[in-house]
Amino acid sequence: MALTVKKFGGSSVATTEKIMAVAQRVLREKGPEDKVVVVVSAMGDTTDDLITLAKDLVGQPYQYTREMDMLLSTGEQVTIALLAMTLNKLGHPAVSLTGSQAGIKTNNAYTKGKILSVEPERVLGELAKGNIVVVAGFQGVNGDGDILTLGRGGSDTSAVALAGALQADSCEIFTDVDGVYSADPRVVTDARRMKEITYTEMLEMARLGAGVMQPRSVEMGKHYGVPIHVRSTFTQDSGTFIREAYTVEEKEFIIRGVTHDTNVAKIAILGLPDHPGVAYKIFSALATANIDVDMIVQSIRNTDKNIIDMVFTVAQPDLPQAKELVEKLGTEMQVFGILVDYNVAKVSVVGAGMLGHPGIAANMFGAMSDAGVNIEVISTSEISISCLIQADKVNEAVNAIHTRFFPRES
Ligand code: ASP
Ligand code: MG
Repeated sequence: MALTVKKFGGSSVATTEKIMAVAQRVLREKGPEDKVVVVVSAMGDTTDDLITLAKDLVGQPYQYTREMDMLLSTGEQVTIALLAMTLNKLGHPAVSLTGSQAGIKTNNAYTKGKILSVEPERVLGELAKGNIVVVAGFQGVNGDGDILTLGRGGSDTSAVALAGALQADSCEIFTDVDGVYSADPRVVTDARRMKEITYTEMLEMARLGAGVMQPRSVEMGKHYGVPIHVRSTFTQDSGTFIREAYTVEEKEFIIRGVTHDTNVAKIAILGLPDHPGVAYKIFSALATANIDVDMIVQSIRNTDKNIIDMVFTVAQPDLPQAKELVEKLGTEMQVFGILVDYNVAKVSVVGAGMLGHPGIAANMFGAMSDAGVNIEVISTSEISISCLIQADKVNEAVNAIHTRFFPRES
């Protein structure tokens, strides 16, 4: 007997035919004694469509974060009901539960909710009755009983958190790709599929734009020690295991992946006074508004005028609010000007092996230089290097860098 959590993403449940196929697959793979929890996303592009509805009415709907959560959480509820009835129709008892009913408790950060705890009693009770439990991904409930969503792609996090709380034997993430690749296979034709990757490297790749898993879900996996199996909904093949350490010898690459992220925007503040507390003022205002800031660069001081420039990036949906805040502070501090740029992208290389291997940065910059790509901002972590570039160069840059680090096998 095994307890399994299986998560199916939006493209896996995009139509009624696909929901039927998911139901059949779940039943086919389930042993008589097995306990199965299925976490699902909203059908296809439902979440985007819901956002469009809100935009049509109010322009910038993310000012109304509580209402956005009320709206967006409906997408997953459609899927759970449809899947649960399909399973019943196919002859297996199943019950659908919202995030709240499944005991997923969050903080109060509407539209970016973080799971604080999972109280799995109801789920365990339904499993004990012999039900397959179908849980709405991407949502939970705060202390006031309000519905919160967990950020785009949040169903992954729901699945991994449930697997952790239920001490599941496995957590499978079914998706439209058959695993984790060394780069986005839609951009790099000879990207390689990995048999396994560590939580740490996967977290960094996800944080830097690898769309396959929500970063927070990988963090959850690491926290609970749940191995995550990312695999295709449409084939039986084994995909990529995300776990603590490598178990099989794969050909060793110092760099595990090249990622890109086009969901970034750049803000530059020119002519800030150079005295203590200026950075604090700006970034604490952004933090209070729950806006994540990424690459931050401050220029050296202009000694004549005693001023500096500051450049940083935020996620595109946060740009309108970030701009408003920075403009207000900029007026107070009498800065020269504020520039924003939507047309930027971030390309990164990730690999724990780069620690102690000099020359990775030079190699990456060399590839970009050969491809004629200009670098605007650079940032590094212990296991990654990222460059901000113009968005229209992103595919060229990713391909050039990938070819450098994963030379084509002849
Ligand atoms: N439906 C949500 C989204 O599109 C959550 C998810 O798919 O994981 O972001
Ligand atoms: Mg989705």
